[in-house]
Amino acid sequence: MFDVKDKNNIGKEYNGFILLGIDELADYKTQAVYLRHKKTGLEVYHILKEDKENLFAFAFRTFANDSKGCAHIMEHSTLCGSEKYPLKEPFTTLAGTSLNTFLNALTYPDKTVYPGASVVRADYFNMMDVYADAVFFPKLDYTTFIQEGHRLELDENGNLSIQGVVYNEMKGNYSSFKDIAIDAQIRTMYPDCFASFDSVGDPLNIPELTYEEFLDFHQKFYNPDNCLLYLYGNIPTCEQLDFLNERFIARLEKKYNCTKEIENYNSELPIVKPEIKELQKLKLIQKSTEIRCIAPKTGSTGEVVTLNWYSGSYDMEKYFLSEVLCGNDSSPLSYRLMNSKLGDDLSPIWSNFGQFQEEFFTYGLSGVKKKNEQKVYDLVQNSLKEIYEEGISQKDIDSAVMGIDFSLREVTRYFGPYSLVLMDKVLKGWNYGNACSTQLSPISTFEKLKEKIRSDKDFTRNLIKKYFLDNKIVVKLVVEPSDKYFKERENSERKLIKKLSVNLDKEKLKKELDELHAYQQYVETPEDTACIPKTKISELDRNLDIPKLEISEAEGNNSAKIPLFLSEEDTNGIFYVDVLFPFDTLDADKMRHIPFLTNILTNIGWNSKQWNDCITESSCVMGDVWGRALCGSCCDAPQSLELLEKYKNKNFMSRQWIGVSCKALTYKAKETFELLSEIITKMDFLDEKRFDNLFAEFLADKKASFVADGRNYILKRTSCMLDKDYALGEVLWGVSQLQTISEYTKIGAKKTLQIFKDIYKSCMESGAVVHITADKDSFEKINPLISEFVKAADFKALKPAVPFTVEDIKPYIINSDAAGNNEVQLLKVHSQTGYAASCTKSSVYLSKEAAGENVFASWLGNHSLWDKIRTMGGAYGAMMWVDNMHKASFFSSYRDPTPEKSLEVFKSCLKEISEKEFSKEEVEQTVVACYGDAIVPRSPIGRANSAFENFLYANPAEFRAIRINNVLEVSAEDVQNAAKRFYKWSEELYNGAIFIDKSKKCSGNKIDIPL
Ligand SMILES: [Zn+2]
Repeated sequence: MFDVKDKNNIGKEYNGFILLGIDELADYKTQAVYLRHKKTGLEVYHILKEDKENLFAFAFRTFANDSKGCAHIMEHSTLCGSEKYPLKEPFTTLAGTSLNTFLNALTYPDKTVYPGASVVRADYFNMMDVYADAVFFPKLDYTTFIQEGHRLELDENGNLSIQGVVYNEMKGNYSSFKDIAIDAQIRTMYPDCFASFDSVGDPLNIPELTYEEFLDFHQKFYNPDNCLLYLYGNIPTCEQLDFLNERFIARLEKKYNCTKEIENYNSELPIVKPEIKELQKLKLIQKSTEIRCIAPKTGSTGEVVTLNWYSGSYDMEKYFLSEVLCGNDSSPLSYRLMNSKLGDDLSPIWSNFGQFQEEFFTYGLSGVKKKNEQKVYDLVQNSLKEIYEEGISQKDIDSAVMGIDFSLREVTRYFGPYSLVLMDKVLKGWNYGNACSTQLSPISTFEKLKEKIRSDKDFTRNLIKKYFLDNKIVVKLVVEPSDKYFKERENSERKLIKKLSVNLDKEKLKKELDELHAYQQYVETPEDTACIPKTKISELDRNLDIPKLEISEAEGNNSAKIPLFLSEEDTNGIFYVDVLFPFDTLDADKMRHIPFLTNILTNIGWNSKQWNDCITESSCVMGDVWGRALCGSCCDAPQSLELLEKYKNKNFMSRQWIGVSCKALTYKAKETFELLSEIITKMDFLDEKRFDNLFAEFLADKKASFVADGRNYILKRTSCMLDKDYALGEVLWGVSQLQTISEYTKIGAKKTLQIFKDIYKSCMESGAVVHITADKDSFEKINPLISEFVKAADFKALKPAVPFTVEDIKPYIINSDAAGNNEVQLLKVHSQTGYAASCTKSSVYLSKEAAGENVFASWLGNHSLWDKIRTMGGAYGAMMWVDNMHKASFFSSYRDPTPEKSLEVFKSCLKEISEKEFSKEEVEQTVVACYGDAIVPRSPIGRANSAFENFLYANPAEFRAIRINNVLEVSAEDVQNAAKRFYKWSEELYNGAIFIDKSKKCSGNKIDIPL
């Protein structure tokens, strides 16, 4: 066997692939290998890691040359059928049947990437087979183009409109102030090149894209010699090359006419073709300018005013400089920005923009009042001068160093496996013809930089001179929220439709649309989808890896017994502490203050020190410290009730919690515990000015994210009268919370802080639980410190909860009469996109019925809902899920152009499917997919937290095994029965809610939005 790790093999060949290099990745304690296929030019970069969650990604350089969104439409269309898989949407079929732990397709301004991951080997290769066929051999027929891209639609009255999946998706993107403001920065810095175009598509340009251009795009970019296959995990490289060879290489050679070896096939660096090199050139702004542009008002709190400085290619020192200046609220620049009073809802903007090869700094403010623009410019420029002249304090340097040290070591899982973070780094090099390993040594690079920072005390301040004071090109930008924005775009859209309808052959269009609709309505049979490779239930592992949670007790002052939970996980020298206090001993009138209270808990100062000194101090010791809340209750599954009974006297189950959490490097454990007990016991609620700033930021954030969070808001409305947990959820995190927030402005900082102080004290007096997560070595250092910490923090034994009901909460739910009782509730705002949600019942947790319902929900989401709401309705997504803990189930649509119709569609799907016969095969495939969803690996802290938090609601990690085993036993009959139950339930209870644009007519109860 060919050993890819043997340096003597460099330059040698395996199965047509030349081994070009072996990279030592010391920062990740592993190696990577780089290979190229001699004839097709396909490149492979494999990070070899003893991790069974293997990931592959096909990446193509796709640089935009306009804003017609071709890259994005291509990304969608390759997944709509290919040579070996001539289905409507093999991707959806695959997502519904495979065990993927990640499966996606992503369009960037400079590349398109198709990643997939699985912990099951056979499944991994199945996905790779479907994806490779999709990207290299897609059908790309005209029907796909008009479905995913754009088309004119005729309604019953003969009115024309533009439709298309990508077209509708992008209309949603062009409706939020924030997104448009960010794009404006990039466009300003890099005018007239790929970075300034919208690679995902501007709805005003998308309709210009022709089918011919679309086909040419694939020809040009989706070529094996413009592709990197990124691999990560423990499946040997050679096995993967064998697989490619067997399934694809000959077909690729034929299709792409690869008759001989490519030029420079043994080049050590990625080969970028000249025509692509031309497109990838970034054009930089050449002289200082001032630019003004407008954006929609939705989500804005004032103008965005920024200064931008070009800063050259990627370099760790820029990341460091940004952290020093703005890493936290007490950093010298962010502090000055926040306290500037140049608007009502100010929040600082700062970034070291490094998405492409070249970077730039952005500093400024959002929420700025009109006419204050010049003041912002002066403030930023004078502040930088001042900071340079005064010098930077050692504490600010230390806290930036600690922040970076910490974040480089923490293994996270945000949108998928950590291997995606590494993929991003690899592609940043590869895409531009640089070595794949260019950015794969951040820890060692930072260690070297730390040397410089330590040895030269002026090093840090000189960076300010280098990048700002001596930098002659400054771009000043104002993004103004304006009513004109939508008006102008709507006008342009009308003109566009008019233009497209000139010389329109209505007969031809009608024929095309009929074909499209017939194609969309065709429901694929199991015979059609049989070509998609599938994993069988018998091949699944029933032995699950269950995280351990050790339950013990620590002794506090006066022999108070404090419940202590310990999670041992592979945390890489980091440890995490959670301290929780119950808040269910409060009245409902007090409970509603919890969300904003958690926001200010560790941010407002302690021990009579200034908040900014406190923040600097804590960031020199810890990775982070923050306030949090945790709510819920135990369900009435017999297994849960048994546990509840067992721990009844301990008072830690089925509670509502507020708390403080922190994370730190283990070598700082002693200081961390000391500081944490100081924070907890000496929390101050005095600084009104700081309160006002935090409140303004909180409010601005709520406003900015209102449209993006629209689906969550309506989901809460559908269930808020169902039980006390949902009722509390609406009051704490739903539109009703906005009512509470709006009161703070009236009550004022001083009084609000007093309320918060009383609440915090009362919660502390009600007792505490502690949870610590660390690796084995870290626990050895931490264990001896715990008892001292518990005493220093003066934790009390837990008092019992005071029970509450929906009726207690109801007075704080706005328009509560409109909720429940099968009513439709409406959230009307200015938004180009909408959402629909509805809620009905489900069976009790851990029951056999519950398992059938979960399988049904998954099937429905991947079949009926997908077909009717996404494919035919043009929404971005639609799903159903079951919350058996609360005996409820939900439907929702996402970025839905016609949410008012979707509520009925959900219901009609239930009716239709209640009469359907499910085949054994389709149920088996859905079961496999459900198993896949349930076994998705989590980050070390994710595992620990879920084990701990679920345990507090009598749902220990071991119950997961029961749930998954129940799912594996689900039969076709179980699913059929579930379908019948859901239909019956939906006739009894069906609470709907819609998030929709103000201008649209729609019946239902309008809900006030106190924002
Ligand atoms: Zn998309």
